[in-house]
Amino acid sequence: MTKEKEKIVEHTAFEQFELDERLVRAVALMGYERPTPIQSQAIPLALKGIDVMGAAQTGTGKTAAFGLPLLHRALTEKHEKPVALVLSPTRELAVQIEEAMKKFAKHTKLKVLAIYGGVGYGPQIDGLKKGADIIVATPGRLLDHVSKGTLHLDTLKMLVLDEADRMLDMGFLPDVRRIIARVPKDRQTMLFSATFPDEVTRLSKEILQNPQLVQIGHKSSAARGLTHTAYPVPAHLKPDLLSEILIEINSPAVLIFTRTKHRADRIQKMLTKSVFRVTTLHSDRTQKQRSAALEGFKQGKYNIMVATDIAARGIDVTGITHVINYDLPATSEDYVHRTGRTARAERLGDAVTLVAPDEEVLLREIERHLGQQMTRSALNHFDYMVPAPEKTSSLQKTSGTVGPQKKTFASSHRRPKIPRKTGR
Ligand code: AMP
Repeated sequence: MTKEKEKIVEHTAFEQFELDERLVRAVALMGYERPTPIQSQAIPLALKGIDVMGAAQTGTGKTAAFGLPLLHRALTEKHEKPVALVLSPTRELAVQIEEAMKKFAKHTKLKVLAIYGGVGYGPQIDGLKKGADIIVATPGRLLDHVSKGTLHLDTLKMLVLDEADRMLDMGFLPDVRRIIARVPKDRQTMLFSATFPDEVTRLSKEILQNPQLVQIGHKSSAARGLTHTAYPVPAHLKPDLLSEILIEINSPAVLIFTRTKHRADRIQKMLTKSVFRVTTLHSDRTQKQRSAALEGFKQGKYNIMVATDIAARGIDVTGITHVINYDLPATSEDYVHRTGRTARAERLGDAVTLVAPDEEVLLREIERHLGQQMTRSALNHFDYMVPAPEKTSSLQKTSGTVGPQKKTFASSHRRPKIPRKTGR
């Protein structure tokens, strides 16, 4: 970029905050012209050192909302290393936050380091020895380093829990409590999440001191710009319907969620036999495979990624046009997180959910949570009346033959085409 151009992009609405000029310059170069609503509200509070509870839809710029104030305080206040810790529920999100923070810190000498499991300790120990100002970590590996003595948390002045509802659920809570017990009480704490169920709000009172609530939109709202469509289908026809839907939408990037790792693998195998370029992301894969899957999906090597809920949190892949729930998520909060992988940063996106008869109850719960009824759709040319083979798993491919039939449903809700969004 020429000096002149650099000068032009320097002038952005981020100057309204009293942020260090090097950070303002960095976000300008990243193309951030004006702060998003969560940034406008959270940054001034966070800069004052106040505890913040940030509730905003996914994909609305939460990383910068907490990242810029952390970096600013690290730049302007005398500190020992590490001064800030960001906790993330998944390795992929930790890496993504690290990458964003490094870009924000590009013109400074601050060091940002990600610490997460599934990879060797060596490079992380080296990184810690060199001194990291800001650590982004998953809880398990962080605690390993603490118990090995390769990392101490008593210098921390700032703590962020990203995807806070996940960090404070039963799975993570014991580890998170262990970590918090080692962080000085005299600290700034920030919690960010798209959803704040009541239990999390209750727990947050233990962790935060006089927090300011920053809430953008409805308490548990899904991303704006997102359409929600349900496809009622007998369980045994889900594989066929999925293939048909994928052919119709013909998208460069679709994320499919399944209930289990096993189902993710089986769908991948099934789809790979067709024209699709498919990868999977779940916790039975090695970290190397997980990173390669995500990177390949981001770069367009794969146009479909089939994943379990580990991909539901925070992952930012530009251009995902559709999120398909092959199986319904366990909770309506999970639905918001899954579908938030599309329609990010004010773009459009479609959430498509395949609903077997025994999943209708869950679907209604999600609809109540969203405050809207989903469009029930069906593919015109798809044969919904193929009987289930006598003994089959729900993923087994059915033959195309039509035997004696009982009419199923959806024929009264036909919609000719799945909307295809362009220009993303
Ligand atoms: P996040 O919610 O932090 O994952 O951000 C979602 C996406 O929005 C990321 O691709 C960010 O780079 C982008 N983004 C965040 N803040 C801004 C902004 N102020 N202007 C433009 N893009 C942004």
